[in-house]
Amino acid sequence: MKTAAVPKQRNVTLGNVRVPVSLVADAQTFGGRRERDCLAGHLVIRDGRIAALTDSGAADVDVDLGGMLVTTPFVEPHCHLDKCFTIERLDFSGGSLAEAIAAQARDKRAWTRDDLRMRATRGLEELWQAGARVVRTHIDWDVVADDPTRIPCAWQVLGELCAEWRGRITVQRSALVPIDAMADIAYADAVARAIASIGGVLGAFVFDQPSRNAGIRNMVRVAMTHDLALDFHVDEGLAPSLDGIELIARAVIDRGHRGPVLCGHACNLGSLEADTRHRRIALIAQAGLSVVSLPSSNLYLQDRGVGTPRQRGLTAIKELLGAGVNVAFGTDNVQDAFCPLGVHNPAATLAAGIIGAHLAPPLGTWLPMVATDAAAALGVQLPCIDRSAAGPLLVWDTPHVSALLSGSSRRWRSLTSIVDPARILR
Ligand SMILES: [Zn+2]
Repeated sequence: MKTAAVPKQRNVTLGNVRVPVSLVADAQTFGGRRERDCLAGHLVIRDGRIAALTDSGAADVDVDLGGMLVTTPFVEPHCHLDKCFTIERLDFSGGSLAEAIAAQARDKRAWTRDDLRMRATRGLEELWQAGARVVRTHIDWDVVADDPTRIPCAWQVLGELCAEWRGRITVQRSALVPIDAMADIAYADAVARAIASIGGVLGAFVFDQPSRNAGIRNMVRVAMTHDLALDFHVDEGLAPSLDGIELIARAVIDRGHRGPVLCGHACNLGSLEADTRHRRIALIAQAGLSVVSLPSSNLYLQDRGVGTPRQRGLTAIKELLGAGVNVAFGTDNVQDAFCPLGVHNPAATLAAGIIGAHLAPPLGTWLPMVATDAAAALGVQLPCIDRSAAGPLLVWDTPHVSALLSGSSRRWRSLTSIVDPARILR
């Protein structure tokens, strides 16, 4: 009887690496020795996949990496590649959220195909340099009542870039529709059908619009009909009356929607009276919503007045995490009316979040918020290091998460640039 040939296993051992324990699914069986927020040892790659971390000093090492940090790629769960890099041409000297929206709307006259392509490409190049391999960009979806399926130019340009960058960065496009337009079920269904046919995420801007509850309920309904992920800009303000995230949670629970549903901002959750906050967070957890905090734009726009801001405007990050809610950090706006500074870099965004939300060392604890947890918020599978193929992993030029997040060391190499790809790629 003939038996199928068993391919010869190929082992590669990368000596002396440090792996953040937060990016390991099963630290007990993975191996290595614990060094604060990392596991240290020799990384064994077997047949193209990460097999183990061994602390045996006598291991047969192929390449010694000198104690450098190895991580999963980063994920950017929330940015705006249609708006970025416009600040230098805006007639705008800073202001409230409403004033930023107005300034950015005036700039749309300059959104030609070439302009959009140039700015979005610059953003994608920054993300690549930052080690990001998945990004969700929001794209303004202009409401054309008599033609709800008209595809915005920016959506088309980002679609072309999505195809061009395939294999390097996975680009998700999310429509940014005013929630009051979605209160019309025929319009909501037409937009959802259009997005389902071309690939994308159904999203909306939810603030204090009187018809927001009807819009939210319609969005959950059509997302289930057309099998779409949902993404909301919600409660981007500090007024206690903003209740969008509670309405979203109730709609998701009532419909039995299983997601993924991602909610960005939720600023007033951080400053609500305690009982209301606890009740609202319990609903968010029950609904299985993910929340993405956007520190740069919140710190820049919230509590804005004539004097010094008193409130930070970040959502209730620690309380959400404590309730078991999946929380990520996103970069949001970069060098536009909503935030005049910034770079598309999840490590820099996490650094801003750690400072803004008083997240304590060891800093490796928080890496999943711009990696595996951020991916889960997008409905994307990003395996932990011990469950990963070798190809996507990154080696940084520092042993320490603090240096990586601080920006003093942000250069990465892929494992395939260190070891012959034929030996580690299946
Ligand atoms: Zn945004």
